[in-house]
Parts: sequence; C-alpha cells; structure tokens
Amino acid sequence: MATGLQKLIEDVGDPRIILTFLDSSAYDELIEIDTNNRAFHCLTDVSKKYPLPLADGSYEEMYINMTELLVHPEDKEKATEMLKLENLPSLFKDSAVEGIWCGELRFRLLSGNWRWVEPVMVTGEAFGLSDGVYRMYIFDIHNRKARELGLSDEPLYIDEPKNDITGLPGKRMFTKAVSALLKNSLVRWCIVSVDVENFKLFNEWYGHNRGDLLMSQIGVRLRMCCEELGGTAGYFGQDDFCVLMPYDMEKIEKLYSDIAAMVSEHGTATGIMPAFGVCVVDENTKLRDMLDRAFLATRFAKESYHSRIRVFDKAMVTKTDEEYQILSDFFRAKKENAITFFLQPQCRASTGKIVGAEALARWKKKDGSLISPALFIPVLEKHGLITDLDVHIWESVCKWLRSCIDRKELPLPVSVNVSALDILNLDLTGVLEDLLKKYELPHDLIKVEITESAYISNNALVKSTVQSLREKGFVVLMDDFGSGYSTLNMLKNLNIDIVKLDAQLIHIDPSYPEKSIRILESVTNMTKTLGIPIIVEGVESQEQKEFLQDIGCSYIQGFYFYRPMPADDFEALLFDKDKVDTSGILFKANQQFHLRELLDDNIYSDNMLNNILGPCALYTLENGSVDIIRFNEQFYEAVNVPDFHDRLTGIEKYMPEADVNSILDVLKQAEEDRLNGAKGLLHFYKTDGTLTSFSIRFFYLRSEGEKKTFFGAAHNITKQNTLETQMLLLSRCSPDTVIFLRRKPDNNVEGTVLFNGLEKELGLTRGELEKELNSVMFYRRIKYDHRSALYRDLLEKINHDESFSTELEVEGADGCPLMLSLFGDSVRDKTGTVDYIVTLRHQ
Ligand code: C2E
Ligand code: MG
Ligand code: MG
Repeated sequence: MATGLQKLIEDVGDPRIILTFLDSSAYDELIEIDTNNRAFHCLTDVSKKYPLPLADGSYEEMYINMTELLVHPEDKEKATEMLKLENLPSLFKDSAVEGIWCGELRFRLLSGNWRWVEPVMVTGEAFGLSDGVYRMYIFDIHNRKARELGLSDEPLYIDEPKNDITGLPGKRMFTKAVSALLKNSLVRWCIVSVDVENFKLFNEWYGHNRGDLLMSQIGVRLRMCCEELGGTAGYFGQDDFCVLMPYDMEKIEKLYSDIAAMVSEHGTATGIMPAFGVCVVDENTKLRDMLDRAFLATRFAKESYHSRIRVFDKAMVTKTDEEYQILSDFFRAKKENAITFFLQPQCRASTGKIVGAEALARWKKKDGSLISPALFIPVLEKHGLITDLDVHIWESVCKWLRSCIDRKELPLPVSVNVSALDILNLDLTGVLEDLLKKYELPHDLIKVEITESAYISNNALVKSTVQSLREKGFVVLMDDFGSGYSTLNMLKNLNIDIVKLDAQLIHIDPSYPEKSIRILESVTNMTKTLGIPIIVEGVESQEQKEFLQDIGCSYIQGFYFYRPMPADDFEALLFDKDKVDTSGILFKANQQFHLRELLDDNIYSDNMLNNILGPCALYTLENGSVDIIRFNEQFYEAVNVPDFHDRLTGIEKYMPEADVNSILDVLKQAEEDRLNGAKGLLHFYKTDGTLTSFSIRFFYLRSEGEKKTFFGAAHNITKQNTLETQMLLLSRCSPDTVIFLRRKPDNNVEGTVLFNGLEKELGLTRGELEKELNSVMFYRRIKYDHRSALYRDLLEKINHDESFSTELEVEGADGCPLMLSLFGDSVRDKTGTVDYIVTLRHQ
C-alpha cells in the first residue's frame, strides 16, 4: 500500500510539485547520502526525536548508527539490507514512481520508546540530485500504524477523553491547550514534565490500587496548580504528567514538595521519588521540541538524588551527544572484536579453591588499556542497548568454553550477566539454548546471573523466565542482592539457585555495626532455611572472609582471592589442580538456626532457652571489679558451690591471682571485637580450695558511665582432667619450670612456658617469663661470664638434635642470684620435627 510521501506523489503525479509543498514540519528528518564520497549529511534534524548521528560524517558511521542504535532489533535485518551502500540502487527497481522508494521501520526515540517511521528514499534528476546521491526523508507514521495494528495505547490523533484516574487530558489535547495558551500570551511560561521514578516499583510494593490513588492525587494537585496560577496539565500515561505553568521556581519547588509528600505518605521507600524536568518556553522553539527538552531534563533529574528539579540547558544535549558517542564507539569496537570478557574466580571460602568464575565485560582500547564496564554499561542500559553487549559476551564465553573442551581441558562453570532488558527484549532461554546447541555445551557450564533490580521491574516475566531457565537445566543466580530494593520475601517467592550478596552489604557501617550485622544475619538465615547457597562479592580482606565464613557464607568472589583476569590467565590457573575444586557450589541445607528466629516466632519458653544457651550469665565490670548480675539455671549448676550467692560480686576474688588480669584482658578484647567477642580460659577456686576451669566467651553489650555490661557464655566447662588444668595444677605443686622449645625456620628458637614453678624465685609470671625467653631479656639475666658459653653449647646441641643439661646462675627476684639446673630433652613429633622440653629446677 502506498503511504505517506509516495501516496502524495501518486495522487499529484509530479514529485517535484510535492517537494515544493513539503516543508520541514511534514517530516522528522532529512538525510542526504552521497555514495560517491561515502558520506552523509543530516540536512534537517527537525524533530530531535531520534538518536541520529551528528550533522555529517562517513556513510559507515551512519550505517552503524542506524542499524545498531536506531532500529528496533526485529527490523535490524531489514534495515541492514536496505542501507547497504551497494544495495541502494536496487531499492528503486520495483518502485511505483521512478526514483522513490518507501519502507517501514521502528525507530528508537530519545526517550527509549519505539516509533513507527516511514523512511522515504529519493534519487535522480527529478529531485535535482546528481548520480549516486540519495535523500532519505523520515516520516513519523506511528499513529496510523498503531491504529492499523490495533494498538489502543497510542490513539494520538483522535481527541482522547480525559483519563479516568487523573482527570487530565492526554498528550494530544494537552498540546492543543498549550498552543492556545501560548498564543499572544505575555506570561513567561514553562513546561514541567513530572515523573515518579520507579513508579512500577511503587505498584509492585503497594499494589495497583495505591498506584492509581497516587496518580489521581497528583492529577488533583496539578489541576489545583493550574487553577491557581493559570496554565494547563496533561497525563501521558503510566507516571508521566506534564504541566504548563508560569516560570516561577518557588512555585515549581512547592509543587515538587507537595507531590513528594504525597508519594511518601504511601511509604518511605527510597528510590521512589518524583523528578521534574523544566523547559522555559521560548517562542522560537517548537512546542514538541520544548516537550522533548522537558523530558530530557527529567532524565537528568532522575540521575541525581539531590537535584530532583532540573531546568533544561544545552549542556544536557551535549551530554546526551557524548553518550551517543560512547554508543557509536561501542558498536564499532564490538565489530572490531575489542569487546571481550575477563573471568573472576569464585572460590570456596574455607579452602580458597576455585569452583567457578564470572564473566565480566571489558572494552579493550587500541593502546591495550581497558575501559571499565562501569563507564559503558550504564550508558548501554540507559539507551536500551545492553542486550547487544550481553548476547556478544554470552557467545564469546560459549566459544571459549568450547575451545577449552576441544583442547581437552575441563573448564569450570561460568556465570554470565543478564540485565533486566534482556528479559524484556529476548526469549532468554531460547537464545541461551541456541548458544549451547551451537557450541555443543552442557547446561551446567553456563550459570545465569540476573540482577536484583530485574526481579523488581518485571516480577512476573522474570519469574517465568527463571522457571524456564531452570527447567532447561541452567543454574540461576540472583546478582547484587541487597544493593537496592530486594526484600527477604523475594527470596522465598523466586525459585533461584544461588544468591550473590552485593559488596555493599558486607561493608559494615562502623557507627551502626549491630544493624549491618543483623541484616547480614537475616539474609544468611533466610537463605539457609531455604537451602540457597550464597556467594559474597567484593571480599577484600581476611577479616571479612572469616566473618562471612562464621555466619555461614561458603563462597566468595573478591579481590581477596582473585581479581578478574583474561580468560588465558584463568585457564593457566586451572592447570594447577590444587587450586581447583570441581565439586562446584554445593549446598547442604544447614540446620543451624539463630536464636532470633525463635524469639521472633515466640516459640520459646525459659526452660527451652536455658537449655539452648547452656550456662550463661550477664557480667558487669566497674573499677576493675567483675560482678554477675544475672545467670541461668545451667550456670548455677555448673558453678556448683554452696556459697554461690555470696560470690556474685567481685568474682575476681575467687580466681588465682594470675588469672585476674586475664579476665580483664578478655573483657577488654570483647569490647574491642563486638562481633566475635573474646574467649578466655578462667579458673575459679571452689569452696574446698580446688580449682575449676571455665572457657567463657564474652560479648560486650553496653556501657552506662563507667559500668560495662557483658554477656558470657560458658561454652564448655573444662573438667579437672583437661590438659590446661593439669598443667595449671602441676605448676602449683611442681617446683620446676617447664618450657617447650621449638626451632623456627630461621634457626632461632622460640619458647612456650608450659608452667612456671619458679614463679616466686624468678619473680616472673608465666607470661612474663615467656616474653623474656623470646627476647634478649632473659639472656641478660644470666650471669655475665656464663652467657656466651652457655648459648654456644646449647645451640650446638640443639642444631644436632641432642639432649642437654647444664647449670647456670641467673638473676632471681629482687636481684638475688639463683642457681638453676637446666635439662633439655629432645622430642620428635609425628612429622619428624625435633622440639625440646626444657626443665628449670632450683638447686
Ligand atoms: P557484578 O556482576 O556484580 O560483578 C562484580 C563486580 O565487582 C565486577 O566489577 C568485579 O570486578 C567487582 N569486584 C569483584 N571483587 C571485588 C572486590 O573484592 N573489590 C572490588 N572493589 N570490586 C570487586 P566490574 O567488572 O567493574 O563490573 C561491574 C558491573 O558491571 C557488574 O557487577 C555487572 O553488573 C556489570 N557487568 C559487567 N559485565 C557485564 C556484562 O557482560 N553484562 C551486563 N549486563 N553487565 C555486566
Ligand atoms: Mg554479576
Ligand atoms: Mg554483583
């Protein structure tokens, strides 16, 4: 069917007449193509609606821009054929009117939406064009096409009734009303585009009824604004409103804060906020351009958390142009194979062995440097083009996996990233299936990482996609969990295989450590209950790794183990079988539970809690004295002394003197390490004078003035026969000091004092003696003329693994000389290493 320009020409008969009629308001764009010089010129870019190339340049540039950026993916093949330079002459072969060819395509708007257009190509003398020169007019035929296709949501050229919910007219009527108001007006107007960012999320969280309510509230507020100040308002569907009002920033700010208050009345979720884009009316600019400018300004307002009202300025166009530059460079780079991927190992936390890897996109510049995905991925996402990158990366990964298998190397599974748009744009499962088929790969080699935000933006579609992926045998991961709007409930409702915790979650805020820890614990609890393994991202330090391991995260992807690396380097790692764990990511539902779960569910009784906790008590520390202020039944039984109640204050009085400092030390450590607490082996005299030993882990709770409160869990009560207690008892009844000497790799020796029977004589506690032995201080205690001979003889024996005995005079307590006998017996451990047990005895 002849349409648009072609129809006109057919009706009128002479194309030249038509062209004289044509003014630039009839079409959106006019581009001249000069095949002789392989160049193009954008003669008029009237509408500024589409992401077109800059004013002029090489034909190749325009070709890439059109086929990669501008045209809808489903029309890409058609456009590629049509626009090939060598195909241009043949387009006109079957034309009804000589020198004219018309097509139909969908073009991307700057806003990211699609619009049907009719490209009309003309050539030849009739149009005043020399050989090899073509002109392409772009007509917007969207409304007609929408009617043809029965798309009810775009009835643009019919006067639409007011929207039931907002009570505001649609775009067409709004535009008419604005044109009327602007005519001969003396007011300085502006157009304000009003958008509620993440409105979809709002609907998701609070329900569509509340969403509708919010839209109607905004409608009322905008109508009030127009009644009060003059102007008119319109509703363009979803969460898009526009209002023409006098340009007065104070009034605009008031309107903004009223609408923001309406939004937050429904809930204070971050991320759901209005954004205003303002375009000051200027009589030399067309209305539709001003509308576009207001929309563009809204996009900038959305990018910033703080300035949510943005007035259009030309720099915005420049920035948008820069983004288009990135886009067109990107597609060129892709063609030149400069877009590749790195692999970052995912490791088992306990062993550091590699269980898999994630493929991360990298853009290699000509000089060998890399462009971070943080620079180009948001631009691709913003313009709806991320899918091109993703499909490219998936295919590259599959190709690499195939080549590994062909080289008889067993690759590990690789996760690929999937963005929300891929799920909308593609049949994701189908595309991945095709790739596996093409490269003959099993399903378990490709894991699919779907970012958290995707689950929110289109929950139902993502849910069904996850389901179909899993049915086909793909492992599905939820990426960046905890970076945005995820809720624990999401984990319950989505059947995902693995959760990746976002790096943000593990950066514990030092001012509210408890809060961050509680969030982490809740996540790990929930995943454990659901049997979902966790990979934690962004782990950089050993402390982080250990803490995460403690709370049950078994897998880690972070610089602590490996940075992302080229596939070749990753392959080299796989050669070292010690570094690889082919059992992959395992998950045995961990039966551990957290007390809070019980408390939250109110399914506890004191009796049950006591049994779970074991012996525990609350302690206070004030002025160096430790009191017990609360204890449970188990604690009472474990301590088991008749005068229990008399001993609750100043418990240090019931400890051997040497232990008093230990309890103070342990409490101090517990206060410093609030996460893990601190454990100490403490001894208490029983009523009959014998000693009992407790291993108590203390956790700091709070301070009130000088008083500090701790929780202490006596994990195990050491019986008298534990090694430590035996040694302690030995030290109390043995007159000897026993030292364990171990030779270090640097041939020096290091001593551990097992017990110090000579405590009084030497005037040193066990710890002090150990410190002296391992420094030069003990050497200085030895009588001056004994020193060198003694050390020389001892080292000689030790170097030959021989036993030794000698006598020596040392400085004892208060500087008195002390004659000691020293015996050293060499012992060999299971590995054959020789150590010494050394006894010091007072003669
Ligand atoms: P992601 O999927 O969460 O990937 C993890 C990011 O964390 C990677 O950044 C990785 O280099 C970084 N990372 C890993 N361990 C550490 C660490 O210990 N410390 C720090 N500071 N960073 C660490 P990268 O490669 O810059 O990628 C950033 C994001 O870009 C990715 O986050 C992903 O959302 C996106 N991305 C990367 N490649 C692709 C892709 O092919 N397709 C899509 N759609 N997105 C991709
Ligand atoms: Mg990822
Ligand atoms: Mg991530």
